Amino acid sequence: MGSFLNVVIYRVPLHQSIVKPRSACPMCHAPILERDNIPVLSWLLLRRKCRNCRSPISARYPVVELTCAGLFAGVAAREGFNWEVPAMLILVAGLLALASIDLERLILPKSIVYTTLGMLIIALAVDSGVTHQWHRLLVAGLCAIVWFIIFFVLNFLGPRYLGFGDVRLSLLLGLGLGWLGIRYVILGFFAGNFLGAIIGLLLIATTKRTKDEPLPYGVYLALGAALALFVGPEILVHFQGLR
Ligand SMILES: [Zn+2]
Repeated sequence: MGSFLNVVIYRVPLHQSIVKPRSACPMCHAPILERDNIPVLSWLLLRRKCRNCRSPISARYPVVELTCAGLFAGVAAREGFNWEVPAMLILVAGLLALASIDLERLILPKSIVYTTLGMLIIALAVDSGVTHQWHRLLVAGLCAIVWFIIFFVLNFLGPRYLGFGDVRLSLLLGLGLGWLGIRYVILGFFAGNFLGAIIGLLLIATTKRTKDEPLPYGVYLALGAALALFVGPEILVHFQGLR
């Protein structure tokens, strides 16, 4: 799945098909051999270089593959064996692809947002049907709509500060976290903004970055969502009194 996400991350922003042709080196266009297409391992064995032209292969490939493996293992460990697992795997895979693209290009392609959203709706509907928890789907839908409206207004007031990609992303985040509960939505939102502020200040302090350079807000929102998903119960237990 991480390998596939790498194809999505590279090709979708260039408006290329994710199905064909088969993977090739972006520099010399030599097709990647079957034996050089093993996640993580091939990158190490080839010493981070294309077999044909020796141009460097981005560290993004093994990083995305390992992160995807870690996220999937995390979802499995968190969820156990139930009908929520497919939905959460779809959510983390979609967010990983979107965050990677946002980090590299400061865009969140709507085709990926809507594809992930569609798959997530189906997975949550299946879970609702099997476990008779339609009320959770209703709450999730409402969270998505409320978050969308808030971001839509913010984008309208200051499009320079909040891009429309983030407005679309809020549907995905609201639905995925809203399924877990409204508290997870609030935690994910604040955690994302908190992480964004901290990392943004660190970048300004340690690099030549200025406060006027745009930050990949989608990356921080995805990080906040991951935090809510994986350590949400441990954090929220301290806020029981606020319910
Ligand atoms: Zn090459």
